[in-house]
Amino acid sequence: MNIQFEAVTKYYNQGNERITALQDVSFQVNSGESLAVIGQSGSGKTTLLSLLAGLETCESGTIQLGATTVSALPDSQFTKFRALHMGIVFQQYHLMPHLTALENVLLPLEINHVSQAREKASDILVQVGLEKRLRHLPSQMSGGENQRVAIARAMVHGPQIILADEPSGSLDLKNGEMVMDLLFRLCDQAQSTLILVTHDNGLARRCKKTLHLKGGKIV
Ligand code: ADP
Ligand code: MG
Repeated sequence: MNIQFEAVTKYYNQGNERITALQDVSFQVNSGESLAVIGQSGSGKTTLLSLLAGLETCESGTIQLGATTVSALPDSQFTKFRALHMGIVFQQYHLMPHLTALENVLLPLEINHVSQAREKASDILVQVGLEKRLRHLPSQMSGGENQRVAIARAMVHGPQIILADEPSGSLDLKNGEMVMDLLFRLCDQAQSTLILVTHDNGLARRCKKTLHLKGGKIV
């Protein structure tokens, strides 16, 4: 699914102060391509992902995902759109702590009423190398394993857009590389559009395009 930002501006109000988190941001990513979003802390990277995911709304501009102008969707419809078409990977995994690996991966399938959910969930856990961890809780797995479960959960329902915010940021070098190789490989296989927020220029170079933010603007 292609992604288009057209003159997007986002403010946060904090007390009497208005913080411009993104200012007049326009870019386009074609279906199946990858975009790295780089920039210093506070430059607007997470805000950009939050707008894409419909977790925040923008003051002006339009965001178009495929044929849908999502910036005009009411919350309830954006929630459905997100569940069906997006997978999100966070730096801190954000798995449900009381659910096993398999149960965490089942969640997006259950939300979307997908048939043969257990087979699909275990298949993707095998693909990420966790066939021996299906019944483990997040607390019983390493950071790298948790992030592989999170990637499986983000991708199990075949979303056309993957959003990832510093997915290797909490991992050591070896596990970070393993997780990133996996994410790139699965996105490629599924022809998903990948938006990757990263501090790592080496990782950014693996993406087809790079967007450099500074103070909420593209540089
Ligand atoms: P990054 O992810 O690049 O570190 P963010 O998108 O989190 O940057 O933040 C961009 C700017 O918006 C920063 O100045 C930050 O302090 C501000 N900001 C982010 N979220 C909020 C919020 N919920 N309320 C007020 N200001 C915020
Ligand atoms: Mg951030």
